[in-house]
Order: sequence, then structure tokens, then C-alpha cells
Amino acid sequence: MKCSAVALCAPSGTGKTTVVRELVKDSDELLFSVSATTRSIRPGEQDGVDYHFVKREAFESMIEAGAMLEWACVHGELYGTPRTNLEQAERQGLALLLDIDVQGAQQLLQALPEAITIFLLPPSAEVLLQRLSGRGSEGDEELRTRLETAQAELEAVDAFRYLVINDRLEKTVHTVRAIIEAESQRFSRRRSEVESLRERLRTDLGEAG
Ligand code: 5GP
Repeated sequence: MKCSAVALCAPSGTGKTTVVRELVKDSDELLFSVSATTRSIRPGEQDGVDYHFVKREAFESMIEAGAMLEWACVHGELYGTPRTNLEQAERQGLALLLDIDVQGAQQLLQALPEAITIFLLPPSAEVLLQRLSGRGSEGDEELRTRLETAQAELEAVDAFRYLVINDRLEKTVHTVRAIIEAESQRFSRRRSEVESLRERLRTDLGEAG
């Protein structure tokens, strides 16, 4: 069994979305997990590609039906990973790549303890603050919310399996790919291959008399 799910988390402004896009581009191993959300669609986004944009009632029905692998409320809007995303990845023999928040990553680990959780950080506090405040369109209140969220996210970083500093896109993508590759070679994920090799040798030895 290879890795089933890889979750990437980061304070907003770390460049996570770009990293995720680069990772799935031309990848024959990763399937991007299209989340469901109640937030409004932004210019340039496509329903069913960036997110499944759904009404709050529809989202709540999915939670009640147990159809969410994980979900969280971020800045007042609901975001979640439909279980069907994981089923689809499993059917295709791919690992599911999730772009989720820290609350979601914690739930994911409860549902799937073998999931790989990676926390991305900008190269310095200055860069983080610059990116958080430099998004432009938001007012003071919005900026304060972003800073508070980033602070809460940093508190949760200990629960993650990996920490990657996103200083150069190419290097970050390379590092995350290397983590996924190394994780897929873990003995626990490869046990069935060893078992079948052992079985084969047993059979051959038996036939050899
Ligand atoms: P945005 O609205 O800017 O696209 O995303 C806001 C935050 O929600 C980001 O940190 C993003 O990673 C997180 N998010 C997106 N999809 C999911 C999801 O399915 N589950 C959880 N828990 N968080 C998500």
C-alpha cells in the first residue's frame, strides 16, 4: 500500500496553494482533493475544480450523513473533504493531496493515522507578516483575524509529521515530493509486497523438493 493521503497546511500567505498546484501538475501519483465549501466563489475559481461550492444546508446534511472525512469552520465558512475523494484516489491507486487547515489535519489523523501531514512555513516572521498584511483588499479587522488564525495554527504545529520552509517554490516542491516518496517506502506500507515475496519463495522451495 502506498500513501493514501497527504495533507498540506500553512498559515495564509505562505504560498500553499501554489505549492499544491505545482505538486499535482504532471503528477501520476497524486490526486488533488477538491473540498466542499460554503464560501462564495472568487473570480478565477471554477466550481468542481477549485472547490465544490455548496449551500450551508447541503454541507450540514453531508456532515450528518457522515460523508465528510474531515471538516472545519474557517473564518465563519465551512470547508470539508468529501469521503468520496479518498475513495476515488484509492480506486485510481493515487494518494489524495489535501489543502486543508490545521483543525482538518488533526481530524484527518484520527480518521487515517497513516496520513502524512506537512506544515509549510514562510522563511521568516517578517515574510509571514508581510504576506499576511500584503493581501491588500482586507481591512484592519480582516487582517487581525488572519493574524489570530496564523497564531492559532502555529500553536498546532507540533501535531504535524513534517515541517517544510517554503523559501523557494521549486525546492519546496522537491522536498515535499521527497517526503512522499520516502514515506511510500516505509516498511509498514510495503508489508504485502514482502509477504508475497516470502510466499513465492516458500512455493519455489516446496517445488524444488
Ligand atoms: P480559502 O477560502 O482561502 O480558499 O481557504 C481558507 C482555508 O480553508 C485554507 O487554510 C484552506 O486550506 C482551508 N481549507 C480548504 N479546504 C478545506 C477542507 O476541505 N477542510 C479543511 N479543514 N480546511 C480546508
